[in-house]
Amino acid sequence: MHSHSLDLKAITAEIAAEIAQATDRGRVADYIPALGAISPAHFGMAIVLADGTCHLAGDADVAFSIQSISKVFSLTMALGAVGDAIWKRVGREPSGSAFNSIIQLETERGIPRNPFINAGAIVVCDMLLGRYEPREAIGDMVRFVRSLADDGQSGDGDIVIDEHVARGEAETGFRNMALANYMRAFGNIHHPVEHTLGLYFHQCAIAMSCRQLALAGRYLMAGGRNPATGRSVVSAQRARRINALMLMCGHYDGSGEFAFRVGLPGKSGVGGGILAIAPGVASIAVWSPGLNERGNSQLGTLALERLVRKTGWSIFDPVP
Ligand code: GLU
Repeated sequence: MHSHSLDLKAITAEIAAEIAQATDRGRVADYIPALGAISPAHFGMAIVLADGTCHLAGDADVAFSIQSISKVFSLTMALGAVGDAIWKRVGREPSGSAFNSIIQLETERGIPRNPFINAGAIVVCDMLLGRYEPREAIGDMVRFVRSLADDGQSGDGDIVIDEHVARGEAETGFRNMALANYMRAFGNIHHPVEHTLGLYFHQCAIAMSCRQLALAGRYLMAGGRNPATGRSVVSAQRARRINALMLMCGHYDGSGEFAFRVGLPGKSGVGGGILAIAPGVASIAVWSPGLNERGNSQLGTLALERLVRKTGWSIFDPVP
C-alpha cells in the first residue's frame, strides 16, 4: 500500500491505544540499575516516510538507551572505514544463540557469526579504533549518529552518551570481557580489550528518542542516502546488505520469529527499542522497555506487527 493513501495518524494512534491497554508488558532489563529503573509503562513510536513526513505517537520524544541498536551504526561506520575487509573478521550468518553467547566462538576460532551479536559488535569496535584513542572513536561515533539524525530543524545536539549507563555496562560486563579476551586469544582483537570494550560500552549507552532513531535510520530506507541532504552515507549495495543482516540477525535468537511476525529488517536493543526499515517507504522506531524471553521488546514487536498488518509494509507483501 502506498504510504500516501494510508491514514498513518489514525493507524499510529490506534496502535498506541492498544499498547497502552496491554497488561503483559514483558520484563525490563535489570542487569544494570540504570536500565532496571525505567518504567515498563513507556511506549513510543516514530515513523519517518521517504518524503520526510514524520508520524509520532506516545513517548516518541523521550530518550532511551539504544543499546544494541547502535550496532547498526557502528557497522555502517566500519564499512566506511575498512570496507569489505571487515568480513574477514566477522561472519554474516544468523547465530541462533543468545546475544552474549560464547559457545560458537570456540568452534569457529574466534570469528563471530555476525556483527549484531555482542562478539561481532566488539570486533567491529576493534576495527573502528584503528589508530584512534577510545575517547576519539567514541566522539566520532556520537557525531556520526547526530549527523544521521539531523533533520535540519529540530537539532540533534541532545543525542549524548548516558555516562551512568556506560559505567554500569563496564561494571557488569564480565561476559563481554570474556568474549573480547577469548577473541583476542584467537588474534581477532587487535587492541587492548579495555580500549575496545570502552568503545563498545559507550556505544551501547547512546541515548536517543524514537524520533531521532527513525530519522537516523533514513539512509537504510533510501538506498544509502540521507534523503534530507541527498548525501550518501553508504553505497546502495551496502545499505541493502545492512538491511539483509538486520533481517537475518537483528534480533539474536529471536530473529526468525521477528521476520515471521513483522517481516522487516529490524535491530533491537535491551533498552526496549527497535529500529525497523521498510525499504523505499519508511524508517520506523518503537520503544517499550519490557522484553520478551529472547531479550527483544515485547510490545515494540507487537506494535510493528500491527503496523505492518495495517499498512502492508512487510517486505514480503506484494509490491502495490
Ligand atoms: N549492553 C548490552 C550488553 O552488551 C547490549 C545488549 C543488547 O542490547 O542486546 O550486554
